[in-house]
Amino acid sequence: MTEFTCASNPSDAASGGESHVDCSEVIAEVWTLLDGECTPETRNKLRQHLEKCPECLRHYGLEERIKALIAAKCRGEKAPDHLRERLRMEIRRTTIIRGQQLF
Ligand SMILES: [Zn+2]
Repeated sequence: MTEFTCASNPSDAASGGESHVDCSEVIAEVWTLLDGECTPETRNKLRQHLEKCPECLRHYGLEERIKALIAAKCRGEKAPDHLRERLRMEIRRTTIIRGQQLF
């Protein structure tokens, strides 16, 4: 049975002390970044999630690109067009895969 999930440690979920940010929420935040808004909250949420759940974005092959996007955005720069395009395509593909439950 193959589930397309990226919970870093499912057996640990019951303890539920820290606020867990869902992976799909993080992907949604990346969309916000792509559209040009970088709030401190968004940045911190993404950074923290990347630190706690590296499997998630590495699995999608997005980790490095999202880090580059955050770095550029948080220096107040526009993300380079090619980076935006690639991220859009890859996030859309990821979203479609998750939405259709192909796996
Ligand atoms: Zn994750």
